[in-house]
Amino acid sequence: MEKELSFIIPCCNEIGNIRAIYQAICDVFSKEGIRFDCVMIDDGSTDGTGEELIRMYNEVPEGMLTVIRFSRNFGKEAAIYAGLQHAEGDHICVIDADMQQRPEVALAMYQKLRSSPEYDSVCAYVESRDEGRRLNFFKGAFYRLANRLSETGFVNGASDFRIISRRMADAILSMPEYFRFSKGIFSWVGFETFYMPYKPEQRASGTSKWSVFKLFRYAVEGIIGYSVSPLRLASVLGTVFTSASLILFLVLLIMGIAGTAFSPAVPVIAAVFLTGGLIMLLLGIMGEYLARTYIQGKHRPVYIIKDILKGDHNG
Ligand code: UDP
Ligand code: MG
Repeated sequence: MEKELSFIIPCCNEIGNIRAIYQAICDVFSKEGIRFDCVMIDDGSTDGTGEELIRMYNEVPEGMLTVIRFSRNFGKEAAIYAGLQHAEGDHICVIDADMQQRPEVALAMYQKLRSSPEYDSVCAYVESRDEGRRLNFFKGAFYRLANRLSETGFVNGASDFRIISRRMADAILSMPEYFRFSKGIFSWVGFETFYMPYKPEQRASGTSKWSVFKLFRYAVEGIIGYSVSPLRLASVLGTVFTSASLILFLVLLIMGIAGTAFSPAVPVIAAVFLTGGLIMLLLGIMGEYLARTYIQGKHRPVYIIKDILKGDHNG
């Protein structure tokens, strides 16, 4: 039977949570009479999560659970991608295994999506997270930088906790890029997104998989993956340095004609600026070519269609 909603649940060392999250989803969504199923991905857990998932698979009614086990840890992004490839529902909900994101909130999101056809996605975002001022500051700075540099917009506090339509899921699947950054991909494919505030709960059990290093790498991925501006930095610097040296030479020339004395170091500095500037300019030009191969190498679709109207107007 066709499913209305498929849950994608990435699990990495979540042995204490997988039954609870599955049960919580069943409790909330069965009551509403919504036909749903779950795709749970074991992302290279070392605590027996994979084996537990197989036991669960054998216990639950047929068609309710799909279990995917990775050969090693590939990261949450890869798990979400695998989940998307295997989820068959008309809508798809990405939710964490650790019970920080409540199925009750998912229900409200689903109802919002069903009642507003203009939206293809409902994204839960955190209004304020008690992570300390420093982390908040860094996150704010990251979003400002990322938004300035890239062509797609990122919303501060937006999480991966989302429900999307089938057509949006198919659009995301049409992006086969290796370095996946969900926040960027979700925003790159377009479609209307409704942002719903929510408050994350405490983790039910286990620990968060994020370290400062992982967060930093994630931020770099967000910027590098969605913007080629860093590659263009060389052109900008090159132009600045070359112009500066040319102005300096001009000033020296005028001073020479006027017979004003200047330190012999000045023309040397000007020459250094000129060489440096020209090298950077050439690097910048190479950066432009590299940027194009980089984008092409991602094999992103050239466009994404929301819907096509053609032929019979009633059909
Ligand atoms: N996760 C995963 N692979 C990883 C890291 C995390 O599948 O390499 C899953 C994890 O099991 C959880 C979700 O991604 O379901 C969010 O992870 P976590 O709770 O550690 O992140 P936080 O909530 O602290 O942002
Ligand atoms: Mg968590």
